[in-house]
Amino acid sequence: MIQEGCSLLGCGVDDDRSFSMDDYASATARWCPGCGDHAVLTAVERLLAAEQLPPERTVFVSGIGCSSRFPHYVHTYGFHGLHGRALPVATGVKLRRPDLHVFVVMGDGDCCSIGAGHWIHTTRYNPDMVVLMLDNGVYGLTKNQTSPTTPQGLPSNTQPKGAYLPGLNPISATLGVTNASFVAQTGDWVPEHLYQTMSAAFHHRGFSFVRVLQRCPKFTETLFLDAVRDPKNVELLLHPNGIVAPEIEEIYENHTSHDPSDLNSAHRLAQEDGRVRLGLFYQNRGLPVYEEVRSEHLHSAEQKLELLNAELDRYAV
Ligand code: SF4
Repeated sequence: MIQEGCSLLGCGVDDDRSFSMDDYASATARWCPGCGDHAVLTAVERLLAAEQLPPERTVFVSGIGCSSRFPHYVHTYGFHGLHGRALPVATGVKLRRPDLHVFVVMGDGDCCSIGAGHWIHTTRYNPDMVVLMLDNGVYGLTKNQTSPTTPQGLPSNTQPKGAYLPGLNPISATLGVTNASFVAQTGDWVPEHLYQTMSAAFHHRGFSFVRVLQRCPKFTETLFLDAVRDPKNVELLLHPNGIVAPEIEEIYENHTSHDPSDLNSAHRLAQEDGRVRLGLFYQNRGLPVYEEVRSEHLHSAEQKLELLNAELDRYAV
């Protein structure tokens, strides 16, 4: 049940509704069988139900790509936008309606190529929203082109002998941006870790960037295969202030203790050395969110009117 005046939900009204996961389901997902996006959708519905988010106060914004179909599949408000432009739209929503719960879903091509400028600057602005970057290392919707995160040597339709360049590292890149406040990585094939990461991202106040390693059995089937098949190829970043999912710690027995407030350690762990690391790389709880910073610097409507009248007086005959 939604509680009266619940500050977390920002509803502040009497409301005795209660929501199950089914209440957040919308159109039938049309992703390929086995696509990791299905697992992300389930985790999102679980989160929405756990937090009892009113659908009318929740918004999903996406760009273009397979994962960007997301707003069609959740029963909330949604904006299925243009390639690479999810973040400016989401920032606009948050600035106009800071009471809404804003989620962004982007793919790797969407975020790290045409949307890269928005990614960097929205990280720096630090608006309060959850950003899920579903990284399958390929442009899937347009049928298999090399994306910025495609590992070097992996073939595609555009680079059939293998990607020419080493893939961009989204975790390192985000950590390098001024004001980065929450940077985490999870995998679609570890449902409890996926859910707990989303939950931690939701409860962080600021720009919560979550890279989801996402399987695409259609075009990049081998990308995470070693990690999926053998838990020994996965390393969990553990800390009481990190992603807490004790259910999986026995299965994934490679553990590294990492304090997410330690930025230098986060940079070191983000380096790609063949290990698949899942966990919270970095969190800074003390950074102001942009919607508040901005409102402090804006004149009120009355002040603007006064300024305008004063300006008009200067030119009055
Ligand atoms: Fe998922 Fe890949 Fe199919 Fe797109 S092409 S829906 S990413 S499996």
